[in-house]
Amino acid sequence: MDWAKYAPYFTEAEFRCRHTGKCAMKPEFMDKLLAIRLEYGKPLKISSGYRDRTHPIEAVKRSTGEHTLGTCCDVAVQGEDAVRLLEIALRHGITRVGVQQKGEGRFLHLGIGGGGLPNPAIWNY
Ligand SMILES: [Zn+2]
Repeated sequence: MDWAKYAPYFTEAEFRCRHTGKCAMKPEFMDKLLAIRLEYGKPLKISSGYRDRTHPIEAVKRSTGEHTLGTCCDVAVQGEDAVRLLEIALRHGITRVGVQQKGEGRFLHLGIGGGGLPNPAIWNY
């Protein structure tokens, strides 16, 4: 994984598992995210990137979560920015979308799937 390719827009540190520090993001996803970031034109705040299977959120799941595949991330965004980001993301090949736009900690989950996950898919939290 060549993180230099994504500088100065994204760093590996932003995508590391908050539980283990590991990072296994897939270039296929990061290439799409970079294209999205360039069109969006503003910094993207990554609230969750890669998650190891031992991460508390993943450890309780019965099947493989997308964050453990390195093919998605959560972006802290809300309001008009969230609508615009979603519109751009869909045009750049994002096919799995999670929407949390209520109360504190609003974000969009953007992913490309893999590992037999339903695709395309959309859900709320
Ligand atoms: Zn997510």
